[in-house]
Amino acid sequence: MLRNVLASLLFLAAFQAGVTSGSPHQFPVQVSGGSQTNEGYCPQFAALQPSKHHGLDVALESEYNSPGFLYNAIHALSTVVRVPSASYDGMASVDEDPRWEIFGTLHAELERLFPVVFDTLEVTKVNKYALVFQWKGSDESLKPVLLTAHMDVVPVEPATAGDWIHPPFSGYFDGTWLWGRGSADDKPDVVSILTSITHLLKHDFTPRRTLVVAFGIDEESGGQHGAYENGKYLEERYGTDAFAVLLDEGAPFMELYGGDVIFAMPYTAEKGYFDLKVEISTLGGHSSVPPRHTAIGMLASAVIQLEAHPHETQLLRTGTLFQEVQCAASYGPAVPEKIRKLAKAAVDDDDALAALAEAVLEWNPMAGASLATTQAVDLISGGVKVNALPEKAHFVVNHRIAAHSSVADLQARTAKLLQPVAERYDLSLAAFGKNVTAGSGAGGHLVLSDAFGTALNPAPITPTGHTPVYALVAGTIMAAFESSVEYKNRTAVVQPSFALGTTDTKHYWNLTRNIYRYGHTHMSNYYNGAHTINEASKPKSLVDKIAFHTKFILNWDESDIERF
Ligand SMILES: [Zn+2]
Repeated sequence: MLRNVLASLLFLAAFQAGVTSGSPHQFPVQVSGGSQTNEGYCPQFAALQPSKHHGLDVALESEYNSPGFLYNAIHALSTVVRVPSASYDGMASVDEDPRWEIFGTLHAELERLFPVVFDTLEVTKVNKYALVFQWKGSDESLKPVLLTAHMDVVPVEPATAGDWIHPPFSGYFDGTWLWGRGSADDKPDVVSILTSITHLLKHDFTPRRTLVVAFGIDEESGGQHGAYENGKYLEERYGTDAFAVLLDEGAPFMELYGGDVIFAMPYTAEKGYFDLKVEISTLGGHSSVPPRHTAIGMLASAVIQLEAHPHETQLLRTGTLFQEVQCAASYGPAVPEKIRKLAKAAVDDDDALAALAEAVLEWNPMAGASLATTQAVDLISGGVKVNALPEKAHFVVNHRIAAHSSVADLQARTAKLLQPVAERYDLSLAAFGKNVTAGSGAGGHLVLSDAFGTALNPAPITPTGHTPVYALVAGTIMAAFESSVEYKNRTAVVQPSFALGTTDTKHYWNLTRNIYRYGHTHMSNYYNGAHTINEASKPKSLVDKIAFHTKFILNWDESDIERF
């Protein structure tokens, strides 16, 4: 999902467009030490290093910094990238579609690379190819931790295979970049989690808190065969709300708002999704004696009506975007003074809140995609022959639903909006399976439906702020910076963030409210994002992730929060 990661950064586009006005700012938050609990909407937490496991953590850190370790990490990532485990839209079941078989090859490679994990943990093949690893802890009253990632990649468009600097499934390491589909999204997470566990096992670590790992096989195609089945399996085995926390792939960290302050942006909310189909059917006939409006003409009115009513942008104090704006205003070096002032006032002043939303949009028009439900008329079809009146015509509108809205809200709004169109042409109106009062039907029928059955509500919002779970997660992120030779002297901020896209976590909502989508590595360790030609990553990114996953496991293991 890495491409969406980039699209979703509230203010990134403003900086790409060169908007860097504003005055320098002093930052109270230093990576190295001190208590950093600012009140308000963007609290910061001190680095939380493992204490009971301090010795183990330090020993592992020094191992991870050795050249031999890097060499092995490169070998592991290269090996799994060479397995072309693509998932495709509309694949049949794992027993029917031979394209799934490549995941068997991937399993074999993972077993060869991480034998200790496969020998020690309970490994379950869910729906044949998805993988769940369970490492039972000694204290069953502690809710388990769930680490997830996906083993599939987006397919390589055959026509572009020649445009890659190194072939897409070569796993070639050129001394700086490791090339290939999956080298950024999401095989580093798979390798990182299994490497962390391998090293913990080698040091005879025995968990107190149960650790569960789940790998999907079709995140890039909706997750129905992989994460959905994993979620079902885990819910049956552990129950609902049975996990302390879930960490999945997500945003990297970067200098976001000008200057050199690093922002780590775990996604704590995601937009919803809805493809609306609008179909008009009318009587056919010969084009030589046409009515004033054909089905296509009426359909055009419906398109115009929807586009004339874009969804309202809303900045809510309870929303994740408000937290992003507060973090940016408090710690972003190049955030305009106007936004800083409004952000401060907006905490308890409604006029300031409205002005803040406007100021944010003015600063970065792209932020509109985060502040509202978006709509894009992407498909249209109608008519079969030039001398025949169209009997059916339809279009499809892609929506990304704002966190403050829902599929039901969107459906109700759409039906109301298109009611006058149906009345104008005397069309009957059926909206999402229900008849709505409109025209008599003498002119034809207008039907609204879910185009592909892929409706998805916005994700439940992960609790943040001064909550024990968020403090543990944010503190662990700060600890990873503090322990890093590269970042220990940098200023870092943890900012809860809002994703425009979705990950496999949509299939895990029942397992925990504490869902984080985050990849601990700098954005510059990715060559080209993902989902396009020349996907490549620096193996350094892998080492960052391994160090972070290790601390995450150790910190959760020694914490007493989140019990049954
Ligand atoms: Zn991904």
